[in-house]
Amino acid sequence: MLKKRRELFVERQERNRLRKARMAQIDNSGRYHHAKKDMTLILEKRGFRVYIDKDTDPELLDYVKHLSIGCINKLYDHFKDLFKKNMVKIPKNVPVLVTSFKKYKGNEKNSGIYDPNTKMIYINEHHVDNHTVWIHEYAHFISYLVPDRFVDYAIEEYKKMLSDYFEYYVQKKTKRKNLETRRHNNEMHREQMAKYLGLPSEYSSTNSDEFFAEMLENWDNIPTNKLTFKLKQTIRKILMRL
Ligand SMILES: [Zn+2]
Repeated sequence: MLKKRRELFVERQERNRLRKARMAQIDNSGRYHHAKKDMTLILEKRGFRVYIDKDTDPELLDYVKHLSIGCINKLYDHFKDLFKKNMVKIPKNVPVLVTSFKKYKGNEKNSGIYDPNTKMIYINEHHVDNHTVWIHEYAHFISYLVPDRFVDYAIEEYKKMLSDYFEYYVQKKTKRKNLETRRHNNEMHREQMAKYLGLPSEYSSTNSDEFFAEMLENWDNIPTNKLTFKLKQTIRKILMRL
């Protein structure tokens, strides 16, 4: 038991370290610090404030606004089912910046980012019409609201799945804590683990953060089995306490 708590502590440290590293990477672009100055508020709807780069072609503004409204409505409906009565707890003034990721060095391929440092959701302007990107980044936003001790549940569940997959499917014990990089056949393992456990996508197998976000994103499409049932219960418990 003691060891378990120790392990959790070490993992939490590691998680924080990775988060900080990620933030630093984002900050390196130099743009995030100045983001607020460079943004124009184009929309306030259902607790979301949508900004866009000031130098965006004015003709595009209405179009982006229109697409954003569509995505916010879909996001809202998605989480309404999930939270039911607790929907009111969705925080107000969630800032969303629609932007060209070309401006963010190294990130141009991302469809979206949640930056916990600025507490802003960044949506790549080329993906602004894709509500699943909005839902996914919003799920990250939520995960950062979850107190550490509840996040530990999600980490535990992810770890259980990882070792379950390696033990029964690969027939090997593993010391791996995630399947993040391309090394060690991780891409293949991600695919197989998702198939084996009925996860929504290979991306869910990446790490506990992505696992949590993907679960929220695909809530209704997760097959119900012994494992996913318990998992959903756990996530529901986490959300109810927000
Ligand atoms: Zn993600």
